[in-house]
Amino acid sequence: MLGGIEAGGTKFVLAVGPSPDRIAARHTIPTRDPATTLAEAADWFAGRGAVKALGIGSFGPVELDRQSQRWGFITNTPKPGWADCNIVGYFDQALGVPVGFDTDVNAAALAEYAGAGGTGGGLAYLTIGTGIGGGLVLDGKPVHGIAHPEMGHIYPRRHPQDTDFAGVCPHHGDCLEGLASGPAIMARWGASLSELPADHPGHVMIADYIAQACHMLFASVAVGKIVIGGGVANTPGLIETVARRCRSLDAGYLPGGARHAVIRPRLGGDAGIRGAMMLAQVAARA
Ligand code: ZN
Repeated sequence: MLGGIEAGGTKFVLAVGPSPDRIAARHTIPTRDPATTLAEAADWFAGRGAVKALGIGSFGPVELDRQSQRWGFITNTPKPGWADCNIVGYFDQALGVPVGFDTDVNAAALAEYAGAGGTGGGLAYLTIGTGIGGGLVLDGKPVHGIAHPEMGHIYPRRHPQDTDFAGVCPHHGDCLEGLASGPAIMARWGASLSELPADHPGHVMIADYIAQACHMLFASVAVGKIVIGGGVANTPGLIETVARRCRSLDAGYLPGGARHAVIRPRLGGDAGIRGAMMLAQVAARA
């Protein structure tokens, strides 16, 4: 059996199963302080019988450099109590099995890539919710540089009707997350995107910002597919508007343009946990 943890800022999803596409049991716990949450998770796994490896897809920032002493840590997160949390070390000790580790969005990208048949020129997974994050898989592997990508913190061009909003990112103000995340939408209009009327200009504005991020990915790393998940992405019609806007931003130039796809997660809400189990599979083989 493989174990997986999708470690999110509001909940931890736990699962065991013989393979990533066959989940035998799953359990969700709220994210409280690390001591409580990690112990609760370890107890659940202990009650499921032996797993041969565990995979963790975690909220970040995290340390992914294998050469670092702090590999497997959640690092400078603003989430109270979780900064400098050695999440891999904890489960290494508690379960005594190999632990695979990556960001929650790289895990989700891995699962969506496999779910799409593992071909087609790479895949990016964007989540648009409380924050904006992105994972990237090229040639079947999650991409890290000296750290993991932070695609939510690029600076998009301002929408012409969005001139006086400062943005909500505590670090950058009007980066993509500062302009198009759930909290940015709430700060501008006092409602979520799905609560706004269908003809509200916010729909086009938010779609434009997300489309700029997609265009950046199509143009810079030439992925074929961009999967968009997260709470804001559930707004009816949003993904379709983003896809249209992407075509318009590209204006027929990019060589892969005919094969670009902007889609919802095929695995729905399961992409993260299945990706975590894929990380376990890799760790079991290593
Ligand atoms: Zn930012």
